[in-house]
Amino acid sequence: MHCPFCGAVDTKVIDSRLVSDGNNVRRRRECITCEERFTTYESAELVMPRIIKQDGIREPFNEDKLMAGLTKALEKRPVNIEKVEAAITRIKANLRASGEREIQSRDVGEQVMKELRDLDEVAFVRFASVYRSFKDLDEFRQEIDRLSQDNSK
Ligand SMILES: [Zn+2]
Repeated sequence: MHCPFCGAVDTKVIDSRLVSDGNNVRRRRECITCEERFTTYESAELVMPRIIKQDGIREPFNEDKLMAGLTKALEKRPVNIEKVEAAITRIKANLRASGEREIQSRDVGEQVMKELRDLDEVAFVRFASVYRSFKDLDEFRQEIDRLSQDNSK
């Protein structure tokens, strides 16, 4: 995003919020060079951050992949597809609202865990055990405890 005042390439996001039903993002930006501030409206498609995989490779955000991950964890569980879609919409909105251009795949995984924890406990445990390769059962149990404590706040 070029600065409209001096043309510099580096600008930083000061504030970021979703507008018109979450399909657009309004951003306040500040130019790092001349410190002028300006507002941009970006469409959701443009602002979906890229995903940084664990090996450092960047790839575009893939909603199908996200859906596949959730569906797999929820296999044969009594969870309505509408609830799964709503969870995906929330995850996407969070990613967009972050204002980041790139996001660690780990952070997406954390959000999926949060959603699954609310949707279905069995699915949550399934996903968590695959997603985090726990060294042993104790570590896994600690993680479950940590998450259930977070949940009760
Ligand atoms: Zn500038």
